[in-house]
Amino acid sequence: MKKIILASNNKDKIKEVKEILKGYEVISLKEAGIDADVEENGITFEENALIKARAIAKLTGELTMADDSGLEIDALNKEPGIHSARYMGHDTSYDIKNRALLDRLKGVEGNDRSGRFVCAIAVVFPDGREMVKRGTMEGLIAKEIKGNNGFGYDPIVYLPEYGMTSAELSPEEKNKISHRGKALAMIKEELDLIK
Ligand code: IMP
Repeated sequence: MKKIILASNNKDKIKEVKEILKGYEVISLKEAGIDADVEENGITFEENALIKARAIAKLTGELTMADDSGLEIDALNKEPGIHSARYMGHDTSYDIKNRALLDRLKGVEGNDRSGRFVCAIAVVFPDGREMVKRGTMEGLIAKEIKGNNGFGYDPIVYLPEYGMTSAELSPEEKNKISHRGKALAMIKEELDLIK
């Protein structure tokens, strides 16, 4: 079974990747005994995912996967974007972050409230080959915070085709259509080819 080091300690991400990449031995940083804090100083999601994957691949010598994700809001010049986790400070609650974003969008109506979740997933192979894929989930920024599932910015991303926010989807529904689910599916397709 092909071994993949997942450059993450986020329990939800690890669970999701393990579920989707059945047939692969997915090992988290913790399970690999690695305690590394990689500085994400790229200017795109793809660059940041690659920076993380390269750094951990260098430490382990194994096939390594890393992701970077966030929310882009078109009317805010694609903010919070790659700064999504750090937006207004790491320790600020998402309730406060979400309210602040809705405030900044006062007066913006209809399709001008467009935005999307973006996820780039990078894989670095032991021989130095690299691969990176992007998945997106398009939506409109809601007028109010709604829903209790998911995390982060889910309660303000309204999905017109579903008539609800991302935080109102069940985890299974979200995984099927999410930015992360789509990027992972693309990665799996490529990995399966070179199994
Ligand atoms: P990362 O762990 O560096 O990729 O940070 C991603 C950040 O983007 C998270 O902390 C959230 O703020 C936001 N984000 C990414 N994906 C999602 C999602 O599926 N729902 C809600 N927020 C998300």
